[in-house]
Amino acid sequence: MANSSASFMRLRLSLGPFFRRSPAPTNLQLLRRLPVDASQLRLRAVRATEADARQPFDHQPRAIEEAVEEEEEEDGQKKQQRKLKIAVVGFGNYGQFLTRTLVRQGHTVLAHSRSDHSVAAAELGAYFFADPHDLCECHPDVVLLVTSILSAETVIRSLPVHRLRRDTLFADVLSVKEFPRNLLLGTLPEDFDIICTHPMFGPESARDGWGGLPFVFDKVRVGDCPGRAARAEAFLDIFAREGCRMVEMSCAEHDAHAAETQFLTHTVGRTLAMLELQPTPIDTKGYETLLRLVDNTCSDSFDLYNGLFMYNTNSTELLHRLEFAMDSVKKKLFDGLHDVLRKQLFEGSPPLDSDAAAWSLLDDAPIGDDLDRDNDEKQPE
Ligand code: NAP
Repeated sequence: MANSSASFMRLRLSLGPFFRRSPAPTNLQLLRRLPVDASQLRLRAVRATEADARQPFDHQPRAIEEAVEEEEEEDGQKKQQRKLKIAVVGFGNYGQFLTRTLVRQGHTVLAHSRSDHSVAAAELGAYFFADPHDLCECHPDVVLLVTSILSAETVIRSLPVHRLRRDTLFADVLSVKEFPRNLLLGTLPEDFDIICTHPMFGPESARDGWGGLPFVFDKVRVGDCPGRAARAEAFLDIFAREGCRMVEMSCAEHDAHAAETQFLTHTVGRTLAMLELQPTPIDTKGYETLLRLVDNTCSDSFDLYNGLFMYNTNSTELLHRLEFAMDSVKKKLFDGLHDVLRKQLFEGSPPLDSDAAAWSLLDDAPIGDDLDRDNDEKQPE
């Protein structure tokens, strides 16, 4: 790491009645020193400019944009929040969405991704690391996996985890849970803590905040010592503070529920999208709901949807059930239609305008009904 002495960042440390200004450290030195336990130490990360973000983090100094002391506690009674240094691995749509809140709460966010998101990171007040070695050498308290489900294994295996502290906490937000649980248990050293989570909301559904929205978590492995337990709680507290409905459940239980809720919702949304529905002058509330469903589901990447299918063993069965349900509904309709036609044919009711018209109605009948139609055609005249 370069040992630049340039004062690219200043922090004011509020230590009771005293005020100290730290000497100018390098980025890396500074991040290593960021306090995570000293609860009376109040820090606020300085936002880097876009130009700074284009510089390799460890090799060139950043300009100082501003150094602002964080406001004193609003309420002396309020529980102080422990500030964490969080590595967000996968800085796409969802990684950036989460970072906005993490930074607002005063946590330090170190971002890493396949693509260069340094400008977006700077705009959000996070630090971007193109090289995972540099990221891990900053010794984050928490590594938060926010990459696509499909790339999770490649990404985890590409991280030099030996450069992390021995007791690092790994967490993920993948929309399926058994797969990352097994992946993390299988690839990480036994000393690492693991919490698997799924915030059941996204940039669209949580546009107005996270209040009341479900946050599912499973403390897969959290060491006994009080420090580890406290860090796990501090991480979960990020979501509790935003008002999320905290739901502790096993990864297996999550996946069983998620196939019925999330995969179904996305499948219906994506199927409706194939119809290219448009608003009309006479939209009903129900139709408006359908249009919103299309918007909500299709704004997520196809990789995400594909991941819900590929990595949740319950999804295939759900897809079969959905197909069966659609056929059953169609069958009910066409059975009714057949009854009418048969009455006309055999009981002398007035015929439809033409036979062709009648059969054209049946062209869309479910496959099983083709058989009925063939049989009907063979009826004696
Ligand atoms: P996504 O398409 O699932 O993931 C995009 C992220 O994956 C980007 O950071 C991208 O990196 C990375 N990525 C994709 N392919 C990669 C590869 N081959 N190698 C390395 N990195 C790769 O979209 P998302 O909405 O951002 O979701 C991220 C995660 O959050 C997913 O696991 C998803 O299940 C979960 N999640 C999403 C939501 C939501 O509402 N969107 C809600 C809850 C949980 P680059 O950008 O650097 O290319």
